[in-house]
Amino acid sequence: MSLVLAKLLEELAAGRLRVVDLTQPLSPQTPLLPLPPQFNNTPAFKIWELSRYDERGPAWYWNAFETGEHTGTHFDAPVHWVSGKDLPDNTVDRIPPKKFVGPACVIDVSAEVAEDPNYLLTVERIRQWEEQYGRIPAGAWVLLRTDWSKRTDPTEYINLKENGPHTPGLAKESSALLAQERDVLGVGVETVGTDAGQAATFEPPFPNHYLMHGSGKFGLAGLSNLDQLPPTGAIVIAAPLKIVGGSGSPLRVIAITP
Ligand code: MN
Repeated sequence: MSLVLAKLLEELAAGRLRVVDLTQPLSPQTPLLPLPPQFNNTPAFKIWELSRYDERGPAWYWNAFETGEHTGTHFDAPVHWVSGKDLPDNTVDRIPPKKFVGPACVIDVSAEVAEDPNYLLTVERIRQWEEQYGRIPAGAWVLLRTDWSKRTDPTEYINLKENGPHTPGLAKESSALLAQERDVLGVGVETVGTDAGQAATFEPPFPNHYLMHGSGKFGLAGLSNLDQLPPTGAIVIAAPLKIVGGSGSPLRVIAITP
């Protein structure tokens, strides 16, 4: 075995490296992104029992489920957005699997979000983070820690008002910087989608989706436990289901961290 892999196993066994689950529970109660009513909305996760050690299957328990691709903790592929529709290998089944592993850069804006639920990550804040922790490397996942996933009440999590949801996200200049000048794998957020709640009103609408996916980058939505990760030094593993032609998928996201 390679020395690096042997060392990885040794460090995990000794507890010097930890595996952190960055995933929210997936159930019919999992909150959904509310789009304006003129658009198709995503269905809730649905699960039903096939058998449970009974006449339907005496020795086995199993379920079937139905879900939107973008339900719960999920992966956004470039084809998800019109700006990425013609890129090569833009669907979940075609993305090279080495892109499912990358270093995490965790930008903690939880204090800003506590003051303003509509907070947008600014370029200035990214540069401040880089002065402290170093330049964001190519192939990194940039994880926006907002502590939003601590809102376990679905009403507070979606935070829907008369004029739409109010949740944090990224300023479009920040998405452009990360996608085009830092060549990241993508951005991960704790909210229901990778754009801010009010982003339907931005120009262009949903600018993080537009810029990231137009540059062949990915998204991770609905993450949790970002408060358990250091600013740098953790590795994220995020492998979506291999749905043929799929635009995204629910997935289990884990981090390996010191
Ligand atoms: Mn999505």
